[in-house]
Amino acid sequence: MSSAPVHTAYLSVGSNIGDKAANCRRGIRALGAHPGVEVRCCSRLYRTAPVDYTDQDWFVNAAVRVATVLAPEALLDWLLEVERAAGRQRRGVRFGPRVLDLDIILFDDLVLGTERLTIPHPRMHNRRFVLQPICDMDPQLVHPVLKTPMDGLLERLTDPHQEVWPLDD
Ligand code: ATP
Ligand code: CA
Ligand code: CA
Repeated sequence: MSSAPVHTAYLSVGSNIGDKAANCRRGIRALGAHPGVEVRCCSRLYRTAPVDYTDQDWFVNAAVRVATVLAPEALLDWLLEVERAAGRQRRGVRFGPRVLDLDIILFDDLVLGTERLTIPHPRMHNRRFVLQPICDMDPQLVHPVLKTPMDGLLERLTDPHQEVWPLDD
């Protein structure tokens, strides 16, 4: 990695088409192929019920912590490239089926809202499939806007439909 400032980012990883676990694992491996991105920690994989658009297959989800010298916009460009290389096609229903989805959840303590990018991810605190994997890695990590740790956000969730089960492999 170059001598530029190194950032810590948390990314969510998901798939609900084909071999979902393999797609997630391959996606995580591909993330680290960029010279400016190192995957430092991975959560377990989880089998999760679809949430925003429920008429679709279950997902496999995970989260990773990366060290990166990329700026947020450049990191997003890289995530979109990895998604494309995995065969993701951007058409069909919003929140619909996808072979690989990579989102930036947190990026240092940054709070950002542009047309392309919102950080922290604006729906993360409502999503068990995001919070549970992050809690595998860093439960005490504090949300920079809500000022609440990840395990506190997870405990706050009450929606019983958000099923999240560790994947046995
Ligand atoms: P959700 O954002 O609710 O998880 P999604 O992942 O299905 O939905 P996509 O269709 O994958 O949404 O992404 C649409 C656009 O969201 C991306 O092209 C990107 O510009 C934008 N976006 C905004 N904030 C983020 C973020 N934090 N991480 C990833 N993409 C983001
Ligand atoms: Ca997403
Ligand atoms: Ca996405």
